[in-house]
Amino acid sequence: MSNFNEEQVLSVHHWTDRLFSFTTTRSQALRFSNGHFTMIGLMVDGKPLLRAYSIASANYEDHLEFLSIKVEAGPLTSRLQHIKVGDTIIVGRKPTGTLLSDYLLPGRRLYMLSTGTGLAPFMSIVRDPEIYDKFDQLVLVHGVRQIDELAYHDLLVEHLPNHEFLGDLVSSKLRYYPTVTRETYKNTGRVTELIESGKLFDDLGVPPFDPAVDRVMICGSAEMLRDLKHILEARGFKEGNTTSPGDFVIERAFAEK
Ligand SMILES: Cc1cc2nc3c(=O)[nH]c(=O)nc-3n(C[C@H](O)[C@H](O)[C@H](O)COP(=O)(O)OP(=O)(O)OC[C@H]3O[C@@H](n4cnc5c(N)ncnc54)[C@H](O)[C@@H]3O)c2cc1C
Repeated sequence: MSNFNEEQVLSVHHWTDRLFSFTTTRSQALRFSNGHFTMIGLMVDGKPLLRAYSIASANYEDHLEFLSIKVEAGPLTSRLQHIKVGDTIIVGRKPTGTLLSDYLLPGRRLYMLSTGTGLAPFMSIVRDPEIYDKFDQLVLVHGVRQIDELAYHDLLVEHLPNHEFLGDLVSSKLRYYPTVTRETYKNTGRVTELIESGKLFDDLGVPPFDPAVDRVMICGSAEMLRDLKHILEARGFKEGNTTSPGDFVIERAFAEK
């Protein structure tokens, strides 16, 4: 167990029958950067059952937060979805990942493009005061199928803009663009289509993607990552990684089987 800490569940919130989030205690020793993921899980039959999870809380907070899918036959989430306050989960001590602003070249506008639980790392990043020093404007796009899957919508629309410390930064710099594909909503359509048609930029009142000033972070399904990478590269954006910064960085929100 030396690579893992045991943490206690502090709260659980079920957004839908496919999506929930929870908070846990945080070991003082756990260090991470906003945007990182780590391995988390449960002890099952005396053995750790672990999966990669983005950390949704910011690195200065004294608790950890995760946003999780519920996969009916999923080895971990068929169990994890039943956790209750006071239960123990295990959390890897070595958070890692590429969705860090350090792996991006300086720019003026940061786009965070997500689908489903791919929102999680961006919930950490938008709560990071330093990101607002690095960019003039931040755009958080979250694509889901149904309106009730827009996790953290109220936090983004109501609570963060009125937050005691972050409120002024969030209300002056963060634009939140939720979009839904299977119901009628103020914004509809897939993230890729909204970019290719230019509707995203028209709705936000900003120019289309420009590698000279725009930086992009992407977290979603393998298909979404592939399509967006293609769109960005066709517009002259270069991918960054842990060794050389670039114009965009990507992370899978889950592994497909
Ligand atoms: C870098 C990385 C970060 C991740 N971060 C998160 C996170 O923050 N929250 C989260 O819920 N999951 C996240 N995942 C996925 C996670 O690791 C597990 O796959 C998920 O918790 C399901 O575990 P399971 O054992 O129940 O089912 P698994 O056997 O792991 O998955 C079964 C199937 O469910 C589907 N699936 C798995 N995860 C998702 C998902 N998040 N959204 C839609 N479909 C999915 C896939 O088709 C997969 O093949 C991440 C994966 C990676 C690689």
